[in-house]
Amino acid sequence: MVLEIFMSKLDAVCHGPARHGMISAIALILYIWFLTPTGHAAAPRIVEEVRFRSESASTRVVIETNGALRYAVGRLSDPERLYVDLLQARLASGWQNRQLSVNDARIAAIRVAQHHRGVVRVVLDLKRIKTYKVFSLKKPYRIVMDLQGLRPAPPPRQQARTPKPKSPPKPVRPLSSQPPPRLASQPTIVIDPGHGGKDPGALGPNGLQEKTVVLQVARVLRQLIRKHLPRYRVIMTRNKDVFVPLTERTKLANDNRAEVFLSIHTNASKRRSVRGVETWYFSFEAKTERAQHIAARENNMSSNQLSELERILRDLHETDRINQSALLAGATQKALVKSLSKRDKNVPDRGVDGAPFIVLLRTEMPSILVEIGFLTNKTEAAQLRRKSYQNALAQGIFEGLNTFLSKSAMKMD
Ligand SMILES: [Zn+2]
Repeated sequence: MVLEIFMSKLDAVCHGPARHGMISAIALILYIWFLTPTGHAAAPRIVEEVRFRSESASTRVVIETNGALRYAVGRLSDPERLYVDLLQARLASGWQNRQLSVNDARIAAIRVAQHHRGVVRVVLDLKRIKTYKVFSLKKPYRIVMDLQGLRPAPPPRQQARTPKPKSPPKPVRPLSSQPPPRLASQPTIVIDPGHGGKDPGALGPNGLQEKTVVLQVARVLRQLIRKHLPRYRVIMTRNKDVFVPLTERTKLANDNRAEVFLSIHTNASKRRSVRGVETWYFSFEAKTERAQHIAARENNMSSNQLSELERILRDLHETDRINQSALLAGATQKALVKSLSKRDKNVPDRGVDGAPFIVLLRTEMPSILVEIGFLTNKTEAAQLRRKSYQNALAQGIFEGLNTFLSKSAMKMD
């Protein structure tokens, strides 16, 4: 159920009567965050210079601007990159699309570009780093990125002339406590079967529970990805009937720097005749009246407050992720309907929509929520129970994902 996931996500940050105040506070914080310290939205800061200094174990990158500004730091994989987005900023002349060749042990190159209007992006193409930190300094104002490298391997020991007394052998670490092997650059897809454990989700007239059917479909989808896209690592937010808080689900995706977050749910309606599949993506903008209505209600805001929030958020660097989420949602919905209509020509295509749910700001990658059918509809509840129908659903979601991944692989970043 899309409504209840949004509602419970909201509950995760705001409880009871304090909710309205909390939401206003969030809107206010975002507003202040956006306007200060420049004070006025109309005057962009100028990025005047980007320079670097290589030491034996560290590299410092310095971005000099003509005043304080807000910035956001992100990391991308495959290939490994670290970037900083300077908000409400523009490049000094001569800096557009400049590339600085570094080629030390940690950074291959630094690229500077006006990413889109009002946002300057500085990308570091990484080699191998251990840690990094990003901070600002004053007079002149500058953003500093410090990268620490991995320690070089110690030189081989010289053969001792006299043999040392043997020390007792070190205990071997049990295999089970070792972290699973993982390639740092292996791209990851997170599948999120909704609900679980004490939270059954929607209920069908045939006794089928949402938490059960979404896990079954998620498992088939995982098999399809493993078989046809072996270069991707697949993580499930749950693989059994357990309760997982929503904040942990998004954190898992962010911590693993997933490429894509796919949440699978079933729908419910008071009108038993309603059926079909629909896909949601997370947007700051409610394009339709229905999305506006749902978002305003779930965020507990009036329509006026909502449009104010939209205006503030629209130009932030989130735009890219939302566009990507909308593309993923479109591809998934199309493939899902195509896959299902092979079995049932009358399956209603309820389409794709986005809505500004504040709490969904948490995922940092293209993210969608697929509603695979209405458990409250007798026909669909019966279909959802069938293995062959679950396979067709998973196949459709997989085809959409595959289309999206092959398109975004062609896009240069
Ligand atoms: Zn649900």
